[in-house]
Amino acid sequence: MKLANSPVTQHVFDGIPFFLKRDDQLHGHFSGNKARKLMSLLAYDDPKITHLIGYGSPQANSLLSLAALASIKGWQLEFYVDRIPSWLKESPNGNYRGALDLGAKVIAMADICAESTHPADFIHKHRQDENHLLVPEGGRSPIAEEGVKTLADEILTWSRFHQEKPLAVALPAGTGTTALYLHKHLHRHGIEVLTCPCVGGESYLVSQFEELGETRHPTILTRDQKHHFGKLYEQDYRVWQSLLEQTHIEFDLLYDPMMWRCLQTWYPQNADKQLLYIHQGGILGNESMLPRYQRKYDLR
Ligand SMILES: *Cc1c(COP(=O)(O)O)cnc(C)c1O
Repeated sequence: MKLANSPVTQHVFDGIPFFLKRDDQLHGHFSGNKARKLMSLLAYDDPKITHLIGYGSPQANSLLSLAALASIKGWQLEFYVDRIPSWLKESPNGNYRGALDLGAKVIAMADICAESTHPADFIHKHRQDENHLLVPEGGRSPIAEEGVKTLADEILTWSRFHQEKPLAVALPAGTGTTALYLHKHLHRHGIEVLTCPCVGGESYLVSQFEELGETRHPTILTRDQKHHFGKLYEQDYRVWQSLLEQTHIEFDLLYDPMMWRCLQTWYPQNADKQLLYIHQGGILGNESMLPRYQRKYDLR
C-alpha cells in the first residue's frame, strides 16, 4: 500500500489567491500530516511486531492516525493518556471516538498506576520489547522525515507547472516537525516555507527545531498576541468560518486559524508570490472543538 499524490485545488480567501494541497484527502482515516509523519511505518515489515504504542491527549489528531495505521497493519494500538475526562468517556466524539471505532485501546494512567506516572516512563519500563513499536508524542521524530520528504517531492513536481511567481508554502506548526522537514527538502529548490507557532511562542518552536538537529529553519510568522494551544479565541473561529464560507473547505480549528491570521498580515507585502497552503487534516477534531466554541460565544 502506498499513499501519496494528494490533489491540489485552487481558491481565494479574503482577496488572497492560493492553491491548497489536500493532504486531508490522502486516505479515509490515515490522512493529514500525521499520516505523512508515520508513512515510513506503513512499509515497516517486522512480523514480531504485534502492538503499536503511543501516548498523548485522548483528543489528539495523532491518536486517530495511529489507530488508522494500526488497523491497516493489523497491529493493536495501545495509546496511553493521563486521564480520559468523564464527559468524553460517557459520549465519545471526535478523534477519540474515531480511534475506538478503529479498535484502539486508550488507556488512562490513573487506571493502571498507583501514583501519577508519565506515560512515556510507563511505556519505556513496560512496553519496550520486540513485539511493541513505540512512537513518540505527536510524531516528533526523525522517522517523520521520509514521509514529509514525499510531500516535498510532490510539491516540487507540482511547482514545475506553476512557475509564474516564486512559490511560498504555508503550514502551521505544533511540534514544527512537518514544517522543518518540508523546508529541509524545499529550500534548495528556492521554495520558501512559512509557518507559525501554535504551541508556545517563537522561541519554543525554534528549540523544537533544534532538538531535531536541523540548523536551517523555515520562516516563522507570528502575531503580537500570544496564542495558547487548545484555548478558544473568537477571532480564530471567525476566520475558520469565513474560510468555510468562501472556499467551501473545512479547515482544522486548532492550528489553521492562526496560520491564516498570520497570512492576512503577510500577504499585502508578498502579493508577488504564489501561496500554496498545506491542508494537514484534523477535521474530526473539530467535532469536539465546535461545540466548545458555540457554547462559549453563543455562536451558530
Ligand atoms: C499535528 C497537526 C499540526 C502540527 O504538526 P507538527 O508537525 O507537529 O508541527 C498541524 N495541523 C494539524 C491539522 C495537525 O493535526
